[in-house]
Amino acid sequence: MADDPLSRSPADGVSEDQLFDRERHIRYLEMNYQILPSPYEGQEINHLTLAYFIISGLHILHALDRIDREDVINWVLSLQAHPKNEDDLNNGQFYGFHGSKSSQFDSVDNVVSVPNNSHLASTYCALAILKIVDYDFSLIDSSSISKSMKHLQQSDGSFMPIHTGAETDLRFVYCAAVISSLLDNWSGVDKEKAKNYILSCQSYDGGFGLIPGQESHGGATYCAVASLRLMGFIEDDLVSKCTSSCIIDVPLLLEWCLQRQAVDGGFQGRPNKISDTCYAFWIGGVLKILGANKFMNERTLREFLLTCQSKYGGFSKFPRQLPDLYHSYYGFTAFSMLQETGLNSLNIELGISTIHHTLI
Ligand SMILES: [Zn+2]
Repeated sequence: MADDPLSRSPADGVSEDQLFDRERHIRYLEMNYQILPSPYEGQEINHLTLAYFIISGLHILHALDRIDREDVINWVLSLQAHPKNEDDLNNGQFYGFHGSKSSQFDSVDNVVSVPNNSHLASTYCALAILKIVDYDFSLIDSSSISKSMKHLQQSDGSFMPIHTGAETDLRFVYCAAVISSLLDNWSGVDKEKAKNYILSCQSYDGGFGLIPGQESHGGATYCAVASLRLMGFIEDDLVSKCTSSCIIDVPLLLEWCLQRQAVDGGFQGRPNKISDTCYAFWIGGVLKILGANKFMNERTLREFLLTCQSKYGGFSKFPRQLPDLYHSYYGFTAFSMLQETGLNSLNIELGISTIHHTLI
């Protein structure tokens, strides 16, 4: 294996904890893939989201051969909610994907219409997984998804993730944008309204809050900028282009993002918070979209992230803690952005790797 460009050994004088341990990360994801979903059954987080972290993580790590493609496709497709007929598409419900089997209600013999509970975030994860395994998207009933998703958009332009009774914020605008982009069908989104909602979330300090008037936050800022990019309202590399005509305040946004890199090299989600692995992606990703990643200190960011790398594989939220799938995934995406050897490159806006047919 000495010639394998994907493996780096610590034998060249670099200590082990200074290296990104790709093999151990693959084993960590493989272990989670094999035992999914039973250990997480008690958690609120849905199985599709966990599967997205595992499968997309393996793709970033160039190890998609560890999964059974057909099994994955069949399982994801089994979670899709289907309208019984064309009229159902006007009943206000969303026909996307369920987060897990347990949220699929059996409505046979039920006279009353039972909500199907499919969710925008689950739908984003389902479509992302299908994209990663190179499923043929012409086989997906995209018009049911788009037509019913239209009902989730509120009059202020925001999105509700399910058909009724949930909060609306930038996260779900982002989910709707990714879904539309993956399906290549934007008929489910009033882009102009969505844009105005996003712009109303930019705070006085340049970052974005989850809803208008809320404190700026790294995750919300990513959702705002990535959505605007997916909808075509902003270009890549904004920082090097004329910014005075841009619909967002780029200099203030840039300053807010750069100030989130703390003295330990990691990124914090908000001022006065400690560095957390996931913000290396949420805020590092915004800087990358803006074409401003050259202004962050990549060396110290890498050093911080390696203090969160677990000896069991995966990444933790804070240094020297136990890993979890969420922070592991965003650790991998961060190392991909840092151009770690042997990792697939990322589509920052979509949050997945860009390279397909890499099953070897
Ligand atoms: Zn975090």
